[in-house]
Amino acid sequence: MAVWRSRDLLDGEAAGSLTMILRTRGCRWRRCAMCGYASEGAPASEEDLIVQFRAAAKDLSAEDRVVKIYTSGSFLDPAEVPESVRSRMIEAIASAGVEKLVFESRPEYVTRELVEASAAKIRTEVAIGLETSSDLVRDHSIGKGFSFAQFKEAADAAHRGGGSVKTYLLLKPPFLSEASAISDALRSARDAAPHSDVLSLNLTNIQRGTPLERMWFIGDYRTPWLWSAVEVLKNVSSIPIICDPVAAGTRRGPRNCGRCDEAVAEAIRGHALTQDPGVFDDLDCGCKAAWEKVVELEDLAFGSPIYMDSGRL
Ligand code: SF4
Ligand SMILES: [Zn+2]
Repeated sequence: MAVWRSRDLLDGEAAGSLTMILRTRGCRWRRCAMCGYASEGAPASEEDLIVQFRAAAKDLSAEDRVVKIYTSGSFLDPAEVPESVRSRMIEAIASAGVEKLVFESRPEYVTRELVEASAAKIRTEVAIGLETSSDLVRDHSIGKGFSFAQFKEAADAAHRGGGSVKTYLLLKPPFLSEASAISDALRSARDAAPHSDVLSLNLTNIQRGTPLERMWFIGDYRTPWLWSAVEVLKNVSSIPIICDPVAAGTRRGPRNCGRCDEAVAEAIRGHALTQDPGVFDDLDCGCKAAWEKVVELEDLAFGSPIYMDSGRL
């Protein structure tokens, strides 16, 4: 179990939030190329889950207007979190005066009834890892195992249940060039926006024990440039889009040249809380020209990209 406090966008302003990660049996799918959660998880009894939850929730303070309960899998999967345990957690968060609850789920577990049961007690947001609106990329580059149509059904069910939807998009799934990754994220944002209330751009990082790590070890994968993230964030304006550049500037994280990473990551964090693209205006570094060349030339070096279909929101 892990718990930490941060700030999140709530109704257009920065608000205190508490994130708890409960150790469950883990995601049942476990096949996504970049996901280290596949090797996490251990059987957890109902009692154990409640003990973990209580330990995390005792850190709740009046400043925590948002609570995120994550499980390295799907909160709505009854094999991970039995329904009775889930209800007790939701009840406890609601009665603590928290304004909003966020949890994650694969689409197959999202039903109107389950979301309604939560939304009746507290404002509820279901976070779904769509990653990309391209079925080709999601299937073959990531191995996610569900279609865009299934995502839309789940988002619709969540909305009918009175919840909101946060959609995760992955910047730079394996096998995509830098330019294709930017195009893919922009197109995905455009496609996912009508079914989402907020987008969360996740920048790929190299997690241990994953197929992506094996690609990275042999030099077949580079994590996205932070400039690419900036490019995507600047060009999505029809819907709030947040981004937490986890592990930015490290060997395994999204990165630029090493000199500007912290400043660019800080601007990305600032944008998440303000939605002001002006935070990117003063950023510059010598490596930006190198990134521009990569975006321009990488596809020429490796052949014609199949995913190119850039779109601005
Ligand atoms: S990315 Fe999500 S769905 Fe895929 S293996 Fe990881 S936890 Fe499961
Ligand atoms: Zn730089």
